[in-house]
Amino acid sequence: MTVPTYPAVESTAPPSASTAARAQLLHGGSVEQYRQAIADGVDRVARRVATVDRPVTGITPAELAPLVDRVDLDRPLGDAGAALDELDNVYLRDAVWFHHPRYLAHLNCPVAIPALLGEAVLTAVNSSLDTWDQSSGATLIERRLIDWTAERIGLGPRADGIFTSGGSQSNLQALLLAREEACVDAVGPAARAELLPRLRVLTSAAGHFSVQKSAKLLGLAPDAVIAVATDTRRRISAAAVREEIERCREAGLVVMAVVGTAGTTDFGSIDPLTELAAICAAAGVWLHVDAAYGCGLLVSPTRRHLLDGIERADSVTVDFHKSFFQPVSSSALLVRDQRVLRHATYHADYLNPARMVQQRIPNQVDKSLQTTRRFDALKLWLTLRVMGPDALGALFDDVVDRAADAWQLVSEDPRFEVVTRSELSTVVFRYLPTGPGRELADAANLHAREALAASGLAVVAGTRVDGRHFLKFTLLNPATTVDDVGYVLDLIATHAGRYVHDHVDADADLTCPVG
Ligand SMILES: *Cc1c(COP(=O)(O)O)cnc(C)c1O
Repeated sequence: MTVPTYPAVESTAPPSASTAARAQLLHGGSVEQYRQAIADGVDRVARRVATVDRPVTGITPAELAPLVDRVDLDRPLGDAGAALDELDNVYLRDAVWFHHPRYLAHLNCPVAIPALLGEAVLTAVNSSLDTWDQSSGATLIERRLIDWTAERIGLGPRADGIFTSGGSQSNLQALLLAREEACVDAVGPAARAELLPRLRVLTSAAGHFSVQKSAKLLGLAPDAVIAVATDTRRRISAAAVREEIERCREAGLVVMAVVGTAGTTDFGSIDPLTELAAICAAAGVWLHVDAAYGCGLLVSPTRRHLLDGIERADSVTVDFHKSFFQPVSSSALLVRDQRVLRHATYHADYLNPARMVQQRIPNQVDKSLQTTRRFDALKLWLTLRVMGPDALGALFDDVVDRAADAWQLVSEDPRFEVVTRSELSTVVFRYLPTGPGRELADAANLHAREALAASGLAVVAGTRVDGRHFLKFTLLNPATTVDDVGYVLDLIATHAGRYVHDHVDADADLTCPVG
């Protein structure tokens, strides 16, 4: 058998304007450039990571904005090395480094290296997880991970789900499915229009604001989300949920979902899921569990029981980019009954015509709110294949242990007042002036947080509790030690104490004029 050969096509035409640009596209002829550029970029980041001595530099938007604005986007540098030099100046030098042990602010984790490897692979191959013909094996890998997660939760044989961009999107989709399930009997536009304004969602007063946003996006009434009171441990009160369902019923309202939170963002509190499941089952109400933060417990070797009851949910949000040490984005929505995902299905002739379902072609777009979609699942896949679930769970256990130590430290320190003890890894507390100046507590804590960030030595978060300003540690870094926590507490006390001292004196100066 002879293989036909074709003469090389010698072009006599002058090179087109795009000839040089083509070398910047990844293809068989540019792999050396690709290797070089990525290796250079990795090297720059590695050098920064190796040398940062504080989580932030404390640069202000006013200082940084001119550097970014000065870049002329219409005048390319022509070379990745030069662009990286520039990037170092406008971004990397002053980036926020979550791997630093004194980054204690939000739910940002240090990232697992196998996941970074996954990120590099998935962006280069650039599979899109809407249809099989844009992804092939990637679709199967995502499906395996959805099954794995649903099994960890215990959702049963008919479970399914989809990777999403984050917990907010997962919550939105969960509530979309719950709304549609609540509307199944409201056939016709008139019945639907009559029902929609009567739908209500119950969630904890400490629940996530994406529930409110979702309700708005879903066209529910402005007062559709009812914030249910919490107990002293900041967990939703099951008794109050039961009463609220009853009250809604009597008022002619329809509770379309109860959202239980497995790890509130501020307090790390886990709602009583077993009780919520029983209440929802008895009332025929959809139970959604927002485990965006607490999902790390699914792989915890010692604390899985804290999620007991989650297996009875109708839908569950997990954020792998919070407690699974994955880079943003990596989240998923899981559902107990795969059939409910049909509420997110549309068939487009050009993409996923209905006949593909009969042909058993697995198109993930049938289950997703997105169309073109990243292969984020690959990051978790490589993490599990390299490290395994127990190792991930051990890392999360570490930070939960560390938060317990931190709570102990703060609660024994007379300079501070601490709120409830977290089941996960937050500590909410405030500096309390002991002598004169107690009324300055709010301003002093606000000041301490800002002064700390400006110094770059540590970053903590702030929140309000019962109308007062509090500070918050969110621990997600196993490298954070109790000494780090103690050091940051001293810095906070110094900043806040100085503020109180200065302002009490200033007040005294005003009230006691000399002469
Ligand atoms: C972070 C968080 C969310 C939102 O998740 P994103 O990934 O930031 O969109 C939802 N619920 C809870 C409890 C969270 O902590």
